[in-house]
Order: sequence, then structure tokens, then C-alpha cells
Amino acid sequence: MLNKQLLIVGAGPAGLAAAIEAKKNGVKDVLLVDLNMKAGGQLMKQIHKFFGSKEHRAGVRGIDTGAAMLKEAEELGVEVWLKSTCVGFFDDKVACIEKGMEDGSKKIIYLKAETIIIATGGQENVVRFKGWTTPGVMGAGAAQTMINVNKVQPGQNIVMLGTGNVGLIVSYQLMQAGCNVVCLVEAAPGIGGYGVHASKISRAGVPIYTKHTIKEVKGNGPNGRVSEVTIVEIDPKFNPIEGTEKTFAADTVTLAAGLKPVSELVKLQDIELVFNGPFGGWVPTHNEKMETTCPGIYVAGDTTGVEEANTALEEGKVAGVSAAEALGAISAAEADKQRAEIWARLDGLRMGPFGEKRAIAKKEVMAKFPGVRA
Ligand SMILES: Cc1cc2nc3c(=O)[nH]c(=O)nc-3n(C[C@H](O)[C@H](O)[C@H](O)COP(=O)(O)OP(=O)(O)OC[C@H]3O[C@@H](n4cnc5c(N)ncnc54)[C@H](O)[C@@H]3O)c2cc1C
Repeated sequence: MLNKQLLIVGAGPAGLAAAIEAKKNGVKDVLLVDLNMKAGGQLMKQIHKFFGSKEHRAGVRGIDTGAAMLKEAEELGVEVWLKSTCVGFFDDKVACIEKGMEDGSKKIIYLKAETIIIATGGQENVVRFKGWTTPGVMGAGAAQTMINVNKVQPGQNIVMLGTGNVGLIVSYQLMQAGCNVVCLVEAAPGIGGYGVHASKISRAGVPIYTKHTIKEVKGNGPNGRVSEVTIVEIDPKFNPIEGTEKTFAADTVTLAAGLKPVSELVKLQDIELVFNGPFGGWVPTHNEKMETTCPGIYVAGDTTGVEEANTALEEGKVAGVSAAEALGAISAAEADKQRAEIWARLDGLRMGPFGEKRAIAKKEVMAKFPGVRA
């Protein structure tokens, strides 16, 4: 049986930041596990430059931030296991890790951890329409992984459903990768993401159909693949308006209809959850230390409510500091001082038209935990 001081599940920006912060604060034994072949979480496919302030890496590509954080974590002595999935918790906090071997075989490793940080990120929502299981219908994140990580085009002619930032950014990246984006389809009356991203798409002549949805996908392509996509206008109650259908030849449909937290591990551990719409669904209640209702288990990043990379990173730092405090590596006073600085930055990130909603959502989630920061 392996014994670890701190186990962190998920090597996205939240998990990496947590590992770095814990190490910097004197935790000797930090294990970071991720089911992917590369560390960085969503950052490993974000080839575009980030917005925001200099302290939050504005102008730096997500992919470079992920690589720099992994390097820092490894230099600090964080043990990183890739291709390793945390599949469950059992009595007395034993975590079970299944490690992918070079030959494709699997090995189960059981370990004990004094503290655990769950930073398993978010996953895409699915949208159902006639033909939604046809080969060639996929999440926008999957298409983004194909072009930016695996260097493979998901298809030639693509219809994107959703105009939030993910839909807009991935559409543009698909165009940069040589795919033809046939159109974007959006149920809401307006575009969901930043105007600057939408403008780049419109300038390239790609139509964006707001107040529309996908009615049907036909699969008469090779091996039953998508061949045709029919979209339809919808009324304010989201009912299709007959006679407004438009049909396009396409071989791929990408879905960017929002994200939800990955919460399987928190559910397994019986951590108290609360439903929060703006955060994408069921999220673990936690306090200002990012500690859950299960003492010694912390959460950070999209697992606690879908936001963006910088908030994930800062929450990871809070969790790393709190784990260091719990393990006796730093005093409560020192941990409070560091957390106050990080929370000030988090408050700054949760300002403006998009941020304010998240600030309110965060307050609601944390209000469920007794004794939290007001
Ligand atoms: C398609 C897409 C595009 C995005 N584009 C942007 C953008 O342009 N700008 C921006 O700021 N934000 C963007 N985001 C959001 C941003 O990337 C996330 O908010 C951020 O990455 C969250 O960080 P995280 O560490 O919480 O989770 P993630 O980055 O998702 O990392 C979670 C990690 O946990 C691992 N994991 C999950 N379960 C297990 C398990 N059981 N065992 C082991 N490992 C596990 C996953 O493999 C993953 O590597 C995007 C998100 C998506 C999905």
C-alpha cells in the first residue's frame, strides 16, 4: 500500500496550481494523477492567447501556460502519474488508481492519502435531436482536441451548435485547421460569447443563425456518417417554426452547448452537493479553504462550477495552501494570509458582465457551508 501526504486528482490548471502551491509551502509528498497522456487539462488544446491582466497571463497561449506549470511542478518535485484514472474512494480515504501501461494493459494501484484535492474539471453537455447519435456528431471539445492535439481534421464541412466562447473559439480554430465551417446555430436571440470572437467568424463570411436549432441530422455518408443537417427557426418558447427549415450538406456536427462539472468522485465520497444553474449543475459545497463537507477533501476548478482557466488556477492555489495547512506544513495564520491574497485576485476575476454572475453563483454555493467567508 502506497502512502501519500497529498493526492491531487486532475492535472488541469486547478490541479497543477494546487500541486505547485502545496510544494512551495513545504508539503513533501505530492502526487498528481491524470487520466490523459499529457498534463494541462483543457489548456493542452488552447492554442489561442488568453485575455485579461498580465498577472493572469494575458497574451500567453493556454498550451504554453500548461507546459510551464507542468515544468514548475516537476522541478518542485511533484510526482506526476499520467494515463492514470482515479476510479473511486473507499473506507479510510483509500484512493484506487488504474494506471495505463505501455502495452495497453491496466494495473490497479491502491493508495492512502492524508489529504485529497479533487480537480477533475468539466465535461460537455449533449444536445438531442433526430440523428444525434450519427457518426460525425461530437462535442466541440473533442473536435478541438483532434485539431490542436492530434493534428487531425474531424471533418471537412462542419455545423457548429452553440455560440458561447467555446463554440466561437473552436469554430475559428477549425477554420484555421483548414475545415469549412458551414454555419453556427444558436437557440438564443443573441451570440453567447465575446463579440471579438464572433466578429472574426463573421468577417470570414460564415453565417451565424441565432434563434435557430438543429432539427435533424441525416447519416447517408460513408459508414453512415453525417451527410446533411437541417436547422429550423424557433419561437421564444423554443418551439420549431414550421416552414423555416434550411438544409446544408455537412459531414460533421460539433456541439458547444455548455459545460457541466465532473462530479463522479465527489458523489462517490458522499460530499454534500448543491444544484447551481450558472455553474452547470450539481457542485460540491465548500468553504473558503476549498474544503468540502468531507474533512481533508478539497475541490478546485471546474469541478466546483464551470468557469475559466484563471479562476481554476487560483482556486487550485487556495486548495494547495489549505492542504499544506492541514498537513502542518504552514501555520493557520500563514495560510489565512496567503488565502486572502488569492481570494482578492479571485474577486477581481469575478467582475464584469460574465464574472458577476459567477461571483453570485460562488456565494450561493459557499453559503451552504457553515462559517464561510461572506
Ligand atoms: C472545449 C473547451 C474550450 C475552452 N476554452 C477556454 C478558453 O478559451 N479560455 C478559458 O479561459 N477557458 C476555456 N475553457 C475552460 C477552461 O479550460 C477550464 O475552465 C479550465 O481548464 C478548468 O480547469 P480545471 O483544472 O478545473 O479542469 P480541466 O482543465 O478540465 O482539467 C481536469 C483534468 O482532470 C482529469 N481527470 C478528470 N477525471 C479524472 C479522474 N477520475 N482521474 C484522473 N484524472 C481525471 C482530466 O483528464 C483533466 O486533465 C474551455 C473548456 C473547454 C471544455
